[in-house]
Amino acid sequence: MSETDVLVIGAGVSGLLCASQLQDAGLKVRVVDKGRGPGGRISTRRQADARFDHGAQFFTVRDARFQAFVDQWMQAGVVREWFRHSPEDSNPQGYPRYCGMEGMASVPRYLATQLDVACGERITELSRNIDVWIATSASGARLAAPYLLLSTPLPQALALLDTSGLDYAGNDKAALRRIRYAKALTTMAILDGPSALPQTGFVKLLQKPLAWIADNKLKGISPHATAVTIHSDAEFAEQHWGSPDETCGPLMLEAAEQWLGSPVREYCCHRWGFTTPLNPWHEKHYTNPAIKLTLAGDAFGGARVEGAALSGIEAAEAILHR
Ligand SMILES: Cc1cc2nc3c(=O)[nH]c(=O)nc-3n(C[C@H](O)[C@H](O)[C@H](O)COP(=O)(O)OP(=O)(O)OC[C@H]3O[C@@H](n4cnc5c(N)ncnc54)[C@H](O)[C@@H]3O)c2cc1C
Repeated sequence: MSETDVLVIGAGVSGLLCASQLQDAGLKVRVVDKGRGPGGRISTRRQADARFDHGAQFFTVRDARFQAFVDQWMQAGVVREWFRHSPEDSNPQGYPRYCGMEGMASVPRYLATQLDVACGERITELSRNIDVWIATSASGARLAAPYLLLSTPLPQALALLDTSGLDYAGNDKAALRRIRYAKALTTMAILDGPSALPQTGFVKLLQKPLAWIADNKLKGISPHATAVTIHSDAEFAEQHWGSPDETCGPLMLEAAEQWLGSPVREYCCHRWGFTTPLNPWHEKHYTNPAIKLTLAGDAFGGARVEGAALSGIEAAEAILHR
């Protein structure tokens, strides 16, 4: 059993930013995640000689607090501006779309190096003993801390909290349960030659069943192979959730044909059960001070990397002000 001040479940951008703020303030923080690496929906994946960003493609910045982190990441060589102009922008000047230097996962990897992060630990059960939270993982590890921050997608956080048998949200529980996420299917394809995407390497599509396509070679993260990430809309994902890759992959490749430009060498698909929240909570985090519990993530901050980041930042402030 290991003791820390705050246990953070979820090493997505919200959990990592919250943890780093708490650690900077002098608290002992432990972060656990079920994934092979940190980042959650900010994810970069290798396949053969190709590299794909297959979750978030870029992030934008509106809030000065998040901009301060991004400026620091720029200085550290962790992020760069990918592109500024997109045909659908109302402002002709556009605005920066940032990406990780070697793929989006550069950001969570950088944040995690300064923290105590254990990956590959899926928490399956929570309990609270007098004043201490105890999280049990699928491998049998038990982690204890007086304060718990849960930053997984909200339905997963609530399912975990239900295992504790506690009344953790009183009258708010039903409203928290009503927060829903959109699903999406992603097809990652390696092409035999250049794609037909514009030089930026990104197109937002308004025609069904696709939402956008990105060329990871033009983006600068897959130097040895043309690797395209194709993202479906939510309706297609609902319709084909149970279909094998051999069904949904070719359908998405056919819909993307005009942007491919070269034959497909190989492809695989990924199912995202939680892309972004459809109806986020009205505050940036949910805190129950009586049981030292805070919930954070994009379900609170809003449907983007920046929303999740701001949720993590404000969750840390809430914990520190206690
Ligand atoms: C395909 C896709 C494309 C997107 N594109 C963009 C984009 O271009 N720009 C943008 O701004 N946003 C985009 N988003 C949204 C953005 O990625 C998310 O809003 C943001 O990354 C969410 O961060 P988070 O910290 O709230 O959650 P997550 O990143 O989901 O982190 C939660 C973590 O909790 C872990 N976890 C879950 N359950 C357990 C458990 N039981 N035990 C241990 N760990 C657990 C998960 O492994 C995960 O790492 C996209 C999302 C998707 C899926």
